[in-house]
Amino acid sequence: MGEFDLIARYFARAGAVSGSSGSTGSTVALGIGDDCAVLTPAPGHQWLVSTDMLVEGRHFLSTVSPRRLGHKALAVNLSDLAACGGTPRACFLSLALPRVDETFLAGFSEGLFSLADAHGVVLAGGDTTAGPLNINITIMGEVPQGQALLRSGARVDDDLWVSGTLGDARLALEVFRGTVSLPGEAFEAVRQAMELPQPRVALGRALRGLATSAIDVSDGLAGDLGHILRRSGVGARLHLADLPRSAILGAMPEDLQRLCLLTGGDDYELVFTAPAQDRSRVMEAAQASATPVYRIGRIESQPGLRVVDGEGRELDLALQSFDHFKS
Ligand SMILES: [Mg+2]
Repeated sequence: MGEFDLIARYFARAGAVSGSSGSTGSTVALGIGDDCAVLTPAPGHQWLVSTDMLVEGRHFLSTVSPRRLGHKALAVNLSDLAACGGTPRACFLSLALPRVDETFLAGFSEGLFSLADAHGVVLAGGDTTAGPLNINITIMGEVPQGQALLRSGARVDDDLWVSGTLGDARLALEVFRGTVSLPGEAFEAVRQAMELPQPRVALGRALRGLATSAIDVSDGLAGDLGHILRRSGVGARLHLADLPRSAILGAMPEDLQRLCLLTGGDDYELVFTAPAQDRSRVMEAAQASATPVYRIGRIESQPGLRVVDGEGRELDLALQSFDHFKS
């Protein structure tokens, strides 16, 4: 058996060969074991497909445990699916490894499968090769015909919402960079936000037919919200004081809070818009999906993003989205 057959052993599970994935009737008719996977969509549904690549040093630090890395590699893909209101079904893993490291593979596959099982996702195929550590996952999910949440539907006077809290992952990164120091317990909490993000799949599904637009916050709130604004041809007013943050981040200096909240990235929360008359329906969707949501601003006709402080003063911020090609 070759060394990369050994890798396959960590990822080929009996359940991945064939299995039904739920009440809507879509099926992974054939997963790992042939030249292609064979997937059958549920009647009246559309496939959503997204892919995300993680490169060491760029998207994760070498200090992350293999188990958490396996979790995060799938979580960032699930987050994209969540942003579109999709129900996850199948994923595909392409993995380049410098050498066959069974400790790494055992932890990585454990983290990946634990999250996959929690969301009913089947690993239906993939590829492995020798090379610098590089993880690529493609995910497929489904949504009832025409119900995908898109970036393009925000309308003037819509409320602007965000789930969870923002900025902890960036705060953890600053600790790793040595620009901030935190006591051990607080560091572990923000490190967990960075390494173990929980994709908002249930919220995304609950927002179908309710949110007018949505995106997940992967590159920072300001940058990701900017995608909604441009695609929708609108602008927004954001209230800095209303941005949800952990007690740990809330105790940091104001400028650091702003940096983490607005441009931090790696949050994997959902930012979305909905008509103001649907506030109670949004709160019901949040409750049904056990996900906290907060109203953080409003959509306006004037293009661009305006951030106002507690006194209503517009902040002059050189807002910048996290750029993967800048160090
Ligand atoms: Mg995204």
